[in-house]
Amino acid sequence: MDVMKKTAHNPPPTPRAGKVYLIGAGPGDPELITVKGMKLLQRAEVVVYDYLASKKLLKQVPKDAELVYVGKMGGVHHAHTQDEINRMLVDFARQGKTVVRLKGGDPFIFGRGGEEIEVLVDHGIAYEVVPGVTSATAAATYAGVPITHRQYTASVAFITGHEDPTKAASNIAWDKIATGIGTLVFYMGIKNLPIITEKLMANGRSPETPVVVVRWASTPEQQSVEGTLATIADRVRAAKIKPPALIVVGEVVSLRDKINWYEKRPLFGKRILVTRTREQASELVHRLEDLGANCLEGSTIALVPPDSWAELDQELRRLGDYDWLLFTSINATRFFFQRLAELGLDARNLKGPKIGVVGTATAEVLQAHGIRADLVPEEFTGEGLAAALLKEGMPGKKVLLPRAAKAREVLPETLSEAGATVTTVPVYRNVQPADYAEVRQALEEKAIDLITFTSSSTVINFLEMLQCAGEAEQQRLLDGVKIATIGPITAKTAVQKGLTIHIQPKTFTIPALVDAILDHYAKRA
Ligand code: SAH
Repeated sequence: MDVMKKTAHNPPPTPRAGKVYLIGAGPGDPELITVKGMKLLQRAEVVVYDYLASKKLLKQVPKDAELVYVGKMGGVHHAHTQDEINRMLVDFARQGKTVVRLKGGDPFIFGRGGEEIEVLVDHGIAYEVVPGVTSATAAATYAGVPITHRQYTASVAFITGHEDPTKAASNIAWDKIATGIGTLVFYMGIKNLPIITEKLMANGRSPETPVVVVRWASTPEQQSVEGTLATIADRVRAAKIKPPALIVVGEVVSLRDKINWYEKRPLFGKRILVTRTREQASELVHRLEDLGANCLEGSTIALVPPDSWAELDQELRRLGDYDWLLFTSINATRFFFQRLAELGLDARNLKGPKIGVVGTATAEVLQAHGIRADLVPEEFTGEGLAAALLKEGMPGKKVLLPRAAKAREVLPETLSEAGATVTTVPVYRNVQPADYAEVRQALEEKAIDLITFTSSSTVINFLEMLQCAGEAEQQRLLDGVKIATIGPITAKTAVQKGLTIHIQPKTFTIPALVDAILDHYAKRA
């Protein structure tokens, strides 16, 4: 029925009303956000985020969403004033946007969440609040401290440590909390730590009370320093602990010896540089991180689209002229289908040529696009595919080979020699990632304990990308850094390039490499 058809008399549609979701990002580990918070993040149109909200969470945001960093670090480096932030939230909502306001920890615990919501209410903007794991409970837990315990404490308080110590009248009833509450957790208190401990002792808390200070809790960079009310300020100064850190005071801290699960993981605190391509690195990185390592992904290879798609686009238009379409790698297949989709085409447009692949993994990628390969060689190499094709008869055949911009010539040469006409088109390029400055700096600062190499090309690219002026500089950068290689070929390349191998598994797989790294550190411990 067309009764509802719009007529000239109908008013224009009212703009969609926006809404603001104030979401707690959790303490640092991106997986500690709530399921609800994550789901909202995945449909955000605008994300306004703070310094303490894990940057890794931003990967969850839709690609076309607008990201606005509003800073705030230890209360000094404000990228935007609170008033500007408030106005921004109101403006985005009025534009009809779904706005996520993402804050570290819980938004209503020392997060000014209350103030932001008040402004939204005053302006009649719709909103919801999603709580988060606050850093106090996370820091205690990740430092091996149960924040309450029947035998030690019946109460816990979250306190700001940021209060101006010169202020005449304090908002904190030091005389009451010093002895009246079992566990005390101070946020933003590193600068004032000497004053905080003094006030607690002056008001009757025992100088022997155990204290732990935890920096970057629940992240691979977590650092903790333990002491008593009497000693902690000096120890924290000696350890040069800077914000963000929390101060946990109370008898429960003594349980840390027994249940310090997070920091006792076998690779905790080890800084490992993983040099595979980003796509391949994840398995290795996940395994190492599960064991507590702090991984830096220094990919030595990045895959990007070709300079131009013109060649492929042209061949796609006359695909019917070809006898064979060949895929010699998973990557080529992925980029090929990505482009096909971008052109609004799909598997039906590949009707015509027979399709050959280099191996079963590539065949599986094709299968995922609804295509069964006509030819899979017995041996999964370019040579193997060439041999299989020769048996099919190549004279006079037209072959299309989408592949990397720089690739081995064995396959096209063999087929041409056998009488085929081979057209190669680039569908991706291998480039050295541009962002190696971070890796170089980490090495300069001696912030890397171990480097893993999983192929000869990772060794070669890594050294090229470091851009050392000579052998002396290479040695200086890598001095003290342990090297792990996956197998003998990689190791041989590394040795030829002047590296010393410290870790080498007996079988050449990722799990075996991880085991060998564990063994290495277990022996040294
Ligand atoms: N809303 C936040 C707190 C913001 S106040 C929450 O609920 O956690 C900022 C203070 O939080 C920092 O100065 C520090 O004391 C603490 N903090 C936040 N994240 C932290 C982390 N990962 N490790 C240690 N302290 C943290």
